Amino acid sequence: MRMTVIGTGYVGTVHAACMADIGHEVLGIDIDAERVASLAAGRAPLHEEGLDPLLARGVASGRLRFSTSLTEAARFADLHFVCVGTPQRRDGEGCDLRFVDAVIEELGPPLRQGALVVGKSTVPVGTAARLQRRLTELAPGTEVAWNPEFLREGAAVADTMRPERLVLGTSSAWADEVLREVYAPMLRAGVPVFSADTATAELVKVASNAFLATKISFVNAMAEVCDAAGADVTVLARAMGADTRIGPRFLEPGLGFGGSCFPKDIRAFATRAEEIGAGPAVAFLHEVDRINTRQRTRTVDRARALLGGDFTGRRIGVLGAAFKPGSDDVRDSPALTVAAAAAAEGATVRVHDPQALDNARTVRPELTYALDVPKACEGADLVLHLTQWPEYRALSPAALAAVVRTPLILDARNCLDGRAWGAGGWTYHALGRPAPA
Ligand code: NAD
Repeated sequence: MRMTVIGTGYVGTVHAACMADIGHEVLGIDIDAERVASLAAGRAPLHEEGLDPLLARGVASGRLRFSTSLTEAARFADLHFVCVGTPQRRDGEGCDLRFVDAVIEELGPPLRQGALVVGKSTVPVGTAARLQRRLTELAPGTEVAWNPEFLREGAAVADTMRPERLVLGTSSAWADEVLREVYAPMLRAGVPVFSADTATAELVKVASNAFLATKISFVNAMAEVCDAAGADVTVLARAMGADTRIGPRFLEPGLGFGGSCFPKDIRAFATRAEEIGAGPAVAFLHEVDRINTRQRTRTVDRARALLGGDFTGRRIGVLGAAFKPGSDDVRDSPALTVAAAAAAEGATVRVHDPQALDNARTVRPELTYALDVPKACEGADLVLHLTQWPEYRALSPAALAAVVRTPLILDARNCLDGRAWGAGGWTYHALGRPAPA
């Protein structure tokens, strides 16, 4: 099938490359000419496991091309996936839909009758219906559908090739059929598919993110209780997670969630619910957000306390800048928030990350960066473990102890082996666990 993918960020690039790989003819569109040039040369402008070969293969086969022109997009295909960003509004907590609206305004007029515009971006419920009204004015006989994206950064290619489910929000059996044809290889492989109206499809996405965010904040709230009670949240979480009704995933206590999705999605959901008269139903999301933000403050407070109550003139080695492992994305990264807070209070902070240093330098130029862990930790009074990259679990505590000034570590992700770090000469601290005797 011929299709365009509009907006080639994390979602769009991966979607475009995967669609080409399963045999479709794809034109990727972005307003960022530099990004388009890089993609057209087969180079991904972001780090995702398995993306580079997929992209190179697609471009070499001729099935994957890129352009900056939405007019070309309208001419190229009658099926368009919209993957542009939907960030938080600058003037509030609601969703900023100006990029989605801009696409509809520009793509609409040149569209042919019978075109199908499929949103993948995460949007407030009711957006597809509103866009349908506008598109009908601009291009009669066209349809809007919503097929929300569930991929996880760090596993985006695998999630797109083998999603846990597909949600097809449409207003007609025809649009549902078109989408089933797009995803035919996935459907043949047994991926569950849910057909819905567009409002339900939009809500599945935000409800899923709200649920996951709540689960993370729940266990982090328990970490706070454990700190007060002198209990161990990691044992609590493992024991709770052994109940199959609860499950261990997303029940990992630590620094909390960040990135370009969960924080803005729960805020946008609460805002939209208030607009449609369902505010009280999801008012708890404000608390989920507050608990999450508090984990960053708690980490900074604990770090300061470990340094005797003052960051001034102290040296801190930071492990991790990305908002999660497997990604170079630093948008609303808890790691960088903590690192910057310590620096703002007078610490000299040196940050390591296996993938995200370039992005981190751009958003936090005030911090210093190191290409390897020993450099980041050289002469440190304290090491902060802030992003749970597998590389950090494989570090030799004894070797690292030799380069720091004081072998003192705060594991804000609760996933290093405290006993091994203790045996390597370190004083190991974590959130929600008793301090070592
Ligand atoms: P992103 O910011 O990485 O990419 C958005 C891209 O859209 C940018 O490259 C931008 O230049 C481009 N763009 C903006 N306006 C445009 C226009 N008028 N025409 C063409 N291109 C335009 O965003 P992302 O992380 O890929 O997220 C996209 C959407 O998917 C968001 O709604 C997000 O909430 C949702 N989502 C993201 C993830 C994720 O893990 N990143 C997962 C699921 C859903």
